[in-house]
Amino acid sequence: YLELQGIRKQFGDANVLNHVNLKIAEGEMVTLLGPSGCGKSTLLRCVAGLTEIDEGQIILAQKNIVHVPPRNREIGMVFQSYGLFPNMTVSENIEYGMKMRGASKEERRKRSDELLAIVDLEDKRHHYPRQLSGGQQQRVALARSLAVQPKVLLLDEPLSALDAKIRKSLRTEIREIQKRFNMTTIFVTHDQEEALIVSDRVCLMNKGNIVQEGTPEAIYTTPRTEFVARFMGSYN
Ligand code: ATP
Ligand code: MG
Repeated sequence: YLELQGIRKQFGDANVLNHVNLKIAEGEMVTLLGPSGCGKSTLLRCVAGLTEIDEGQIILAQKNIVHVPPRNREIGMVFQSYGLFPNMTVSENIEYGMKMRGASKEERRKRSDELLAIVDLEDKRHHYPRQLSGGQQQRVALARSLAVQPKVLLLDEPLSALDAKIRKSLRTEIREIQKRFNMTTIFVTHDQEEALIVSDRVCLMNKGNIVQEGTPEAIYTTPRTEFVARFMGSYN
Protein backbone atom coordinates (compact mmCIF):
# COMPACT_ATOMS: atom_id res chain seq x y z
CA TYR A 1 0.00 0.00 0.00
CA LEU A 2 2.86 2.34 0.90
CA GLU A 3 6.17 1.50 -0.67
CA LEU A 4 9.48 3.30 -0.19
CA GLN A 5 12.01 2.39 -2.84
CA GLY A 6 15.68 3.29 -2.53
CA ILE A 7 15.17 6.48 -0.55
CA ARG A 8 18.41 8.41 -0.31
CA LYS A 9 18.93 11.67 1.52
CA GLN A 10 22.09 13.60 2.11
CA PHE A 11 22.56 16.69 4.26
CA GLY A 12 25.83 18.26 3.11
CA ASP A 13 28.17 15.31 2.86
CA ALA A 14 26.35 13.25 5.49
CA ASN A 15 24.34 10.32 4.12
CA VAL A 16 21.34 10.37 6.40
CA LEU A 17 19.29 7.80 4.45
CA ASN A 18 21.05 5.15 2.36
CA HIS A 19 18.68 3.60 -0.16
CA VAL A 20 15.99 2.73 2.35
CA ASN A 21 13.38 0.21 1.15
CA LEU A 22 10.18 -0.40 3.07
CA LYS A 23 6.80 -1.87 2.15
CA ILE A 24 3.79 -1.37 4.36
CA ALA A 25 0.48 -3.14 3.88
CA GLU A 26 -2.85 -1.36 4.18
CA GLY A 27 -3.89 -1.18 7.81
CA GLU A 28 -0.49 -2.21 9.08
CA MET A 29 1.27 -0.47 11.96
CA VAL A 30 5.02 -0.43 11.51
CA THR A 31 7.37 0.91 14.14
CA LEU A 32 10.66 2.56 13.25
CA LEU A 33 13.11 2.14 16.04
CA GLY A 34 16.74 3.16 16.34
CA PRO A 35 19.31 5.31 18.07
CA SER A 36 19.21 9.09 18.01
CA GLY A 37 20.35 10.49 14.68
CA CYS A 38 19.81 7.28 12.67
CA GLY A 39 17.37 9.00 10.33
CA LYS A 40 13.89 8.11 11.65
CA SER A 41 12.44 11.61 11.61
CA THR A 42 14.08 12.37 8.29
CA LEU A 43 12.47 9.29 6.76
CA LEU A 44 9.02 10.34 8.02
CA ARG A 45 9.54 13.88 6.77
CA CYS A 46 10.48 12.51 3.35
CA VAL A 47 7.29 10.44 3.26
CA ALA A 48 5.23 13.47 4.30
CA GLY A 49 6.99 15.62 1.70
CA LEU A 50 8.42 18.04 4.26
CA THR A 51 11.95 17.05 3.21
CA GLU A 52 12.88 16.51 -0.42
CA ILE A 53 14.56 13.22 -1.25
CA ASP A 54 17.70 12.99 -3.38
CA GLU A 55 16.82 9.65 -4.93
CA GLY A 56 14.11 7.01 -4.77
CA GLN A 57 10.37 6.57 -5.17
CA ILE A 58 7.45 6.76 -2.78
CA ILE A 59 4.41 4.83 -3.96
CA LEU A 60 1.11 5.33 -2.12
CA ALA A 61 -1.98 3.44 -3.29
CA GLN A 62 -0.25 2.70 -6.61
CA LYS A 63 0.60 6.33 -7.21
CA ASN A 64 4.07 7.82 -7.16
CA ILE A 65 3.82 10.79 -4.79
CA VAL A 66 7.42 12.04 -4.91
CA HIS A 67 6.39 15.18 -6.78
CA VAL A 68 3.07 15.67 -5.00
CA PRO A 69 3.19 18.66 -2.59
CA PRO A 70 2.81 17.78 1.12
CA ARG A 71 -0.74 19.09 1.52
CA ASN A 72 -1.96 16.88 -1.32
CA ARG A 73 -0.26 13.68 -0.20
CA GLU A 74 -3.13 12.54 2.04
CA ILE A 75 -0.70 11.84 4.85
CA GLY A 76 -1.30 12.85 8.45
CA MET A 77 1.53 13.54 10.85
CA VAL A 78 1.76 13.93 14.61
CA PHE A 79 4.97 15.21 16.18
CA GLN A 80 6.54 14.99 19.61
CA SER A 81 5.59 18.62 20.30
CA TYR A 82 1.86 18.78 19.88
CA GLY A 83 1.86 21.66 17.42
CA LEU A 84 -1.74 22.68 18.01
CA PHE A 85 -2.87 26.15 17.01
CA PRO A 86 -2.81 27.99 20.38
CA ASN A 87 -5.47 30.54 19.42
CA MET A 88 -8.02 27.93 18.32
CA THR A 89 -10.23 25.76 20.50
CA VAL A 90 -10.01 21.98 20.48
CA SER A 91 -12.81 21.61 17.94
CA GLU A 92 -11.47 24.43 15.77
CA ASN A 93 -8.11 22.67 15.74
CA ILE A 94 -9.71 19.40 14.71
CA GLU A 95 -11.86 21.03 12.05
CA TYR A 96 -9.15 23.24 10.58
CA GLY A 97 -7.93 20.80 7.92
CA MET A 98 -11.48 19.94 6.85
CA LYS A 99 -12.28 23.64 6.59
CA MET A 100 -9.24 24.16 4.35
CA ARG A 101 -10.57 21.38 2.14
CA GLY A 102 -13.95 23.06 1.86
CA ALA A 103 -16.02 20.77 4.08
CA SER A 104 -19.34 22.23 5.20
CA LYS A 105 -19.92 23.35 8.78
CA GLU A 106 -22.28 20.40 9.45
CA GLU A 107 -19.83 17.92 8.02
CA ARG A 108 -17.02 19.34 10.12
CA ARG A 109 -19.10 19.38 13.25
CA LYS A 110 -20.20 15.78 12.77
CA ARG A 111 -16.68 14.50 12.17
CA SER A 112 -15.10 16.43 15.03
CA ASP A 113 -17.81 15.19 17.41
CA GLU A 114 -17.08 11.61 16.36
CA LEU A 115 -13.36 12.09 16.86
CA LEU A 116 -13.79 13.88 20.19
CA ALA A 117 -15.76 10.88 21.42
CA ILE A 118 -13.06 8.50 20.21
CA VAL A 119 -10.26 10.37 21.98
CA ASP A 120 -12.52 10.92 25.00
CA LEU A 121 -12.42 14.71 25.02
CA GLU A 122 -16.06 15.59 24.41
CA ASP A 123 -16.14 17.86 27.44
CA LYS A 124 -13.07 19.81 26.24
CA ARG A 125 -14.23 20.92 22.82
CA HIS A 126 -14.31 24.62 23.72
CA HIS A 127 -11.04 24.59 25.63
CA TYR A 128 -7.83 26.07 24.28
CA PRO A 129 -4.68 23.91 24.04
CA ARG A 130 -3.03 25.66 27.01
CA GLN A 131 -5.93 24.50 29.20
CA LEU A 132 -5.17 20.84 28.46
CA SER A 133 -2.60 18.39 29.80
CA GLY A 134 0.13 17.07 27.51
CA GLY A 135 -1.66 13.77 26.99
CA GLN A 136 -4.91 15.55 26.15
CA GLN A 137 -3.14 17.85 23.70
CA GLN A 138 -1.59 14.86 22.00
CA ARG A 139 -5.02 13.24 21.67
CA VAL A 140 -6.29 16.43 20.02
CA ALA A 141 -3.30 16.33 17.65
CA LEU A 142 -4.19 12.73 16.80
CA ALA A 143 -7.84 13.61 16.20
CA ARG A 144 -6.82 16.57 14.07
CA SER A 145 -4.62 14.41 11.84
CA LEU A 146 -7.38 11.80 11.46
CA ALA A 147 -10.04 14.40 10.68
CA VAL A 148 -8.98 14.75 7.05
CA GLN A 149 -9.06 10.96 6.58
CA PRO A 150 -5.45 10.49 5.53
CA LYS A 151 -4.29 7.36 3.72
CA VAL A 152 -1.29 7.09 6.02
CA LEU A 153 -0.60 8.30 9.54
CA LEU A 154 2.95 9.18 10.59
CA LEU A 155 3.64 9.44 14.30
CA ASP A 156 7.04 10.85 15.28
CA GLU A 157 7.60 10.02 18.95
CA PRO A 158 4.13 11.30 19.88
CA LEU A 159 4.48 10.05 23.45
CA SER A 160 8.01 11.03 24.37
CA ALA A 161 7.10 14.33 26.02
CA LEU A 162 4.61 12.63 28.35
CA ASP A 163 5.21 11.02 31.70
CA ALA A 164 5.45 7.24 31.95
CA LYS A 165 1.93 6.52 33.14
CA ILE A 166 0.16 8.64 30.51
CA ARG A 167 2.53 7.25 27.87
CA LYS A 168 1.46 3.70 28.62
CA SER A 169 -2.26 4.40 28.47
CA LEU A 170 -1.97 6.56 25.38
CA ARG A 171 0.04 4.01 23.44
CA THR A 172 -2.74 1.47 23.98
CA GLU A 173 -5.28 4.08 22.93
CA ILE A 174 -3.33 4.91 19.76
CA ARG A 175 -3.14 1.22 18.88
CA GLU A 176 -6.90 0.81 19.37
CA ILE A 177 -7.68 3.84 17.22
CA GLN A 178 -5.23 2.64 14.56
CA LYS A 179 -7.01 -0.72 14.40
CA ARG A 180 -10.46 0.79 14.46
CA PHE A 181 -9.69 3.00 11.43
CA ASN A 182 -7.55 0.28 9.82
CA MET A 183 -5.05 3.10 9.49
CA THR A 184 -1.75 2.43 7.76
CA THR A 185 0.70 3.85 10.28
CA ILE A 186 4.41 4.43 10.77
CA PHE A 187 5.21 4.99 14.42
CA VAL A 188 8.63 6.29 15.42
CA THR A 189 9.92 5.66 18.89
CA HIS A 190 13.21 5.11 20.64
CA ASP A 191 11.51 2.96 23.27
CA GLN A 192 11.97 -0.77 22.53
CA GLU A 193 9.21 -1.85 24.85
CA GLU A 194 6.77 0.53 23.18
CA ALA A 195 7.76 -0.82 19.76
CA LEU A 196 7.31 -4.43 20.81
CA ILE A 197 3.88 -3.74 22.27
CA VAL A 198 2.11 -1.57 19.71
CA SER A 199 3.30 -2.73 16.31
CA ASP A 200 2.57 -5.39 13.71
CA ARG A 201 6.15 -5.08 12.52
CA VAL A 202 9.31 -3.46 13.81
CA CYS A 203 12.01 -1.92 11.61
CA LEU A 204 15.25 -1.24 13.37
CA MET A 205 17.36 1.51 11.81
CA ASN A 206 20.99 2.36 12.24
CA LYS A 207 22.98 5.04 10.41
CA GLY A 208 20.47 5.58 7.65
CA ASN A 209 19.71 1.91 6.97
CA ILE A 210 17.02 -0.50 8.05
CA VAL A 211 19.19 -3.21 9.62
CA GLN A 212 16.46 -5.70 10.48
CA GLU A 213 12.69 -5.89 10.20
CA GLY A 214 10.21 -8.42 11.42
CA THR A 215 7.44 -9.12 13.87
CA PRO A 216 8.13 -7.89 17.38
CA GLU A 217 8.69 -11.50 18.51
CA ALA A 218 11.09 -12.32 15.68
CA ILE A 219 13.21 -9.23 16.09
CA TYR A 220 13.44 -9.72 19.83
CA THR A 221 14.13 -13.45 19.88
CA THR A 222 16.17 -13.74 16.66
CA PRO A 223 18.37 -10.65 16.33
CA ARG A 224 20.61 -11.05 13.31
CA THR A 225 23.44 -8.87 14.55
CA GLU A 226 25.09 -7.80 17.76
CA PHE A 227 23.69 -4.30 17.24
CA VAL A 228 20.11 -5.56 17.01
CA ALA A 229 20.51 -7.82 20.03
CA ARG A 230 21.91 -5.00 22.14
CA PHE A 231 19.37 -2.45 21.00
CA MET A 232 16.40 -4.75 21.54
CA GLY A 233 17.71 -5.83 24.93
CA SER A 234 17.60 -9.47 23.83
CA TYR A 235 20.41 -10.28 26.26
CA ASN A 236 18.52 -9.15 29.35
P1 ATP B 1 16.13 11.23 17.18
O1 ATP B 1 15.85 9.87 17.74
O2 ATP B 1 17.13 11.96 18.00
O3 ATP B 1 14.90 12.02 16.90
P2 ATP B 1 16.34 10.62 14.34
O4 ATP B 1 16.61 9.19 14.06
O5 ATP B 1 14.95 11.11 14.19
O6 ATP B 1 16.90 10.97 15.78
P3 ATP B 1 16.97 12.55 12.29
O7 ATP B 1 16.30 13.70 12.91
O8 ATP B 1 16.31 11.90 11.14
O9 ATP B 1 17.31 11.46 13.38
O10 ATP B 1 18.41 13.01 11.87
C1 ATP B 1 19.31 12.17 11.17
C2 ATP B 1 20.59 12.93 10.90
O11 ATP B 1 20.34 13.94 9.94
C3 ATP B 1 21.18 13.61 12.11
O12 ATP B 1 22.58 13.45 12.07
C4 ATP B 1 20.81 15.06 11.91
O13 ATP B 1 21.74 15.92 12.48
C5 ATP B 1 20.76 15.20 10.42
N1 ATP B 1 19.78 16.20 9.97
C6 ATP B 1 18.43 16.13 10.12
N2 ATP B 1 17.82 17.19 9.58
C7 ATP B 1 18.80 17.98 9.07
C8 ATP B 1 18.82 19.23 8.39
N3 ATP B 1 17.68 19.89 8.08
N4 ATP B 1 20.00 19.72 8.02
C9 ATP B 1 21.16 19.06 8.29
N5 ATP B 1 21.22 17.88 8.94
C10 ATP B 1 20.06 17.34 9.32
MG1 MG C 1 13.61 12.11 15.45
